[in-house]
Amino acid sequence: MDVIKESSLLHDRCLIGGKWVKAASQKSFPIVSPDAQSTIATAPQLSRDEIAHAVDVAHDAFVNWSRTPAPERAALIRTWFDLVRKHADEVGTILSSEQGKPLAEGIGEVHYAASFLDWFSEEAKRGYGDILPSNSANRRFMVLKQPVGVAALITPWNFPAAMITRKAGAALAAGCTVVIKPASQTPLTAFALCDLAERAGIPAGVVNVVTGSASEIGGELTSNLKVRKLSFTGSTEVGRVLLKQCAGTIKNVSMELGGNAPVIVFNDCNIEAAVNGVMASKFRNAGQTCVCANRIYVQNEIYDEFQARLIEAVNALKVGSTFDEQTQIGPLIDEMAVAKVQEHIDDAVAKGAKIVAGGGRHELGSTFFTPTVLSDVPDQALVTAEETFGPLAPLLRFTGEDEVIRRA
Ligand code: ADP
Repeated sequence: MDVIKESSLLHDRCLIGGKWVKAASQKSFPIVSPDAQSTIATAPQLSRDEIAHAVDVAHDAFVNWSRTPAPERAALIRTWFDLVRKHADEVGTILSSEQGKPLAEGIGEVHYAASFLDWFSEEAKRGYGDILPSNSANRRFMVLKQPVGVAALITPWNFPAAMITRKAGAALAAGCTVVIKPASQTPLTAFALCDLAERAGIPAGVVNVVTGSASEIGGELTSNLKVRKLSFTGSTEVGRVLLKQCAGTIKNVSMELGGNAPVIVFNDCNIEAAVNGVMASKFRNAGQTCVCANRIYVQNEIYDEFQARLIEAVNALKVGSTFDEQTQIGPLIDEMAVAKVQEHIDDAVAKGAKIVAGGGRHELGSTFFTPTVLSDVPDQALVTAEETFGPLAPLLRFTGEDEVIRRA
């Protein structure tokens, strides 16, 4: 990708203890642009020992970081925020190159990502405790908030910047150090953010990033005693595995997993507002967000009109490449993602649904899918239970409020 070749934020190494490192084995894996399907860079294939080393480094850095006065930590997070905002176009370009979302969305995400650092730079100063009424005359009860230690952050590819700052901002504010494992598809954004953390003056070892085999890294981070917190955003399936793995060392865990969000459209709605709302919540990031509308229940009387207006809006969406300014729907992350959308369509159609817009792959390439609307989708369709993560809007009919709330 020529657009990012010149960027000083483009790295092919991991940041561990203030050093940018390759794997000792020299092994690496390619980062492929979903748009052009070309390799834009590589990332290190670290060994399990190298992951353990990153945890050691974060554990050592915790000693000083956790004792750093909150206002100083706050100021450093604030400087990181300023730098991310200042470099939003550059980081956004790297992000869109590896993730595929239209450039405006990529840059938009970086600003969104920065907002977490803004927030946590303020919250760092407010780690208040509590004093509770005591049940005996000679005791006082005090609740003090203290950092737990090294936090492992495992993040997904759909928001490669925001899911990192949301976790890292909180951890750093609390006084924890972090080892970040970005999704294998999108480590370049993570490298760029870590570079900016380093430029902000956040001490070496406080923010570390590792790449390699997801299951090997997950295995180490969940079993290593020095890791005291795991924060994960990703699939329910992997979340379940990680929860089990964390049981062995009883870690603090936060899980943000999959969903299947319903939208309900009633007869008395403002149809235009409803269509706009569905378009925004369904098609952002080409439908690849965990809060995307996954099933849309429309009441009988307005069903036909709503469907007609939605079809019109969906057919007007401009599918295009990541760096085309007109693009509203870019490529999906990879061909597996395309296959999943196709599977949901095939399943629904086999169970009686009708394709009323789109319905298949897009001529732009193997990672592109035409925005699709399905009509009269039955409750038994896979799409009502599984996350689609693609540009597919399934419409289901309903009659009464109680009924639809139950189904939703
Ligand atoms: P998605 O559907 O978003 O790809 P995943 O749950 O597969 O969801 O991925 C989310 C994150 O979890 C990514 O960083 C991925 O590399 C990581 N991951 C996948 N499998 C494992 C695993 N077995 N252990 C730890 N992390 C994993």
